[in-house]
Amino acid sequence: MNTIYLDNNATTRVAPEVFEAMRPFFCERYGNPSSIHRFGGAVAAEIEAARRQVAELLGARYRDKNGCATEIVFTSCGTEGDNTAIGCAVAAAKGKKKIITSAVEHPGINHYLENLARRDYRIVRIGVDGRGRLDLDAYRAALDGNTALVTMMYANNETGTIFPVRELCRLAHEAGAFFHTDAVQAAGKLPIDVDEEGFDFLSISGHKLHAPKGVGALFARRGIPFTPLLLGGHQERMRRGGTENVASIIGLGAASALARGNLASEAVALRRLRDGFEQKLLATIPSISVNGDLENRLPNTSSVSFTDIEGESILMLLDQYGICASSGSACTTGSLEPSHVMRAMNIPYNAAPGTIRFSISKYNTAQELDFTAEKLVPIIAKLRRMSPYWNEK
Ligand code: PLP
Repeated sequence: MNTIYLDNNATTRVAPEVFEAMRPFFCERYGNPSSIHRFGGAVAAEIEAARRQVAELLGARYRDKNGCATEIVFTSCGTEGDNTAIGCAVAAAKGKKKIITSAVEHPGINHYLENLARRDYRIVRIGVDGRGRLDLDAYRAALDGNTALVTMMYANNETGTIFPVRELCRLAHEAGAFFHTDAVQAAGKLPIDVDEEGFDFLSISGHKLHAPKGVGALFARRGIPFTPLLLGGHQERMRRGGTENVASIIGLGAASALARGNLASEAVALRRLRDGFEQKLLATIPSISVNGDLENRLPNTSSVSFTDIEGESILMLLDQYGICASSGSACTTGSLEPSHVMRAMNIPYNAAPGTIRFSISKYNTAQELDFTAEKLVPIIAKLRRMSPYWNEK
């Protein structure tokens, strides 16, 4: 059975070109970039080249006198970038005790903020409407001179809804606050320009854009004091201790270059595939709805609620055909509680549990999506026949 992988917001396949770029750094060019000898020094130069590739994807134009894109710090994942950015901002905003965020952030933000709440920080979570759009009036009202940081995601991992981050950043700066955006889902899918958009911090994760797991990057604007999360050696200009994950950093550089080169054409192709898939579902399955800001969402993401059934059952039946997707439930604990994103959006109680996220990539084909749409028709009909909540409408 072939796998049809429609869970690309969870993780992506490493692009073959990326894998090839990484290959020499395992058994041939395995030197430590911190070494004095040329064998290691040559690797350090490759890391700087990868740093420039990431900077180019993100629009970070600053280079130091050696041509290094020093505003980019390599991390181990998106979560580390998120944690580090928040830590840096609150340390730099000495004495200010308020942090503004949204109600739909990733746990990499939420759990770190919960920790800060225990240390006297006041966390203000701005709500969203039924389409996942931020309540801008509540945001404006929350901003004040005591705000240390605003951290708002660029695009939501469950619905793909894009926040107006440029405007949010401008307003944060007007209030004298730092601005961080978690761009883990946006990078490689949307054009990003940290210099034009004005962000102070932005985090990305390799494994969401066809680089390997275990590597990420944080953009941290020069001039803002940096507080490292990992204290150790002098790596990353003293901003992240620990010998670099060289091959993965090279991979992230290659993936960034690849994504940048094909951004616009890939977005068009992904949107066409995704929209065609949604149209098929809407035409063939009753009582479903597509979640998120339909005019302004990631081109690869489709969050669909199937009323009166449970997402977990849908996923299990899809899995029998080799189809991988994910649900909008926090089902890791065995509960079928809708996710915090679905709850924040007030998705109706009979629709939220049956929410499935399909997230596609450039490696998906129209045939795969047709097959999935076709198989969903009997799957949903079968589950609804078994559902105590479903009445043929
Ligand atoms: N932020 C968002 C929006 C995400 O979707 C994810 C991963 O799903 C993360 C952060 C965390 O990234 P990582 O898995 O690299 O820590």
